Amino acid sequence: MSKVAGVHDADEMSEMSDPTAGPAVPPPLPAVPDADWSRVLCVVAHPDDMEYGTSSAVATWTRRGVEVCYLLLTAGEAGMAEPPEVVAPLRAIEQRNACAAVGVTDLRILDHPDGMLEYGLALRRDIARVVRQVRPDAVVTANFDVEAYGGFNQADHRAAGLAVVDGVRDAANPWVFRELAEEGLAPWHTGGLLVANPAQPTHAVTVDEEAVRAAVASLNCHEAYLRHVTDHPRPEEMIPEILRAGGAAAGTEYAAAFRYYGL
Ligand SMILES: [Zn+2]
Repeated sequence: MSKVAGVHDADEMSEMSDPTAGPAVPPPLPAVPDADWSRVLCVVAHPDDMEYGTSSAVATWTRRGVEVCYLLLTAGEAGMAEPPEVVAPLRAIEQRNACAAVGVTDLRILDHPDGMLEYGLALRRDIARVVRQVRPDAVVTANFDVEAYGGFNQADHRAAGLAVVDGVRDAANPWVFRELAEEGLAPWHTGGLLVANPAQPTHAVTVDEEAVRAAVASLNCHEAYLRHVTDHPRPEEMIPEILRAGGAAAGTEYAAAFRYYGL
């Protein structure tokens, strides 16, 4: 029987399980292949979802001329003690300021219901529409695992992430959501999808101190919201900590970590 390619012989195996070797150090995360990007679309459920470290990558991209658009699927109106009709416009202002802190001027907020975001064709179509409008090189979304951020992930986050994965594909398919073609929107194939703050990142965007400061500033723009959340860690401590962890995985001081999928 011939030897199967890729199967290690006995010598190699014994070398690999050398009991004197320390714990295997994983190789540093490779860089997100963003060198040729000119447009990025970030799609998340709520105001502030981009501000937990991910906006440092945005600041890095916009500084070198990449156009970044934020699409919020809800206005975040159910996230505070005050009534939704007060909260929605307030959070839009705070998000606009957060966008400005990292060089983003294109902010779009849809009116899907906060706290009751439903995965489905309507959400996929709305995401596909903006993908076709913006024609991004890459789409960024947030972690949508069932378990995330140290506990169970929020329902809207799960629905949003799944709809983003599908909506990005839908945008490329001329035979689904044909009403988008009637709106004059041609199919668009996005080259990459990034999931921010994943449990197991595959790639990273190295960010410098200026980008870290911009990311801290962007979270601080959600002033009323941060006042509402009891025991929210100080952005000045929390954001550098998140980005230092990314940096440790990437072999740099600070980095935003992602799962990257080429499409
Ligand atoms: Zn959220």
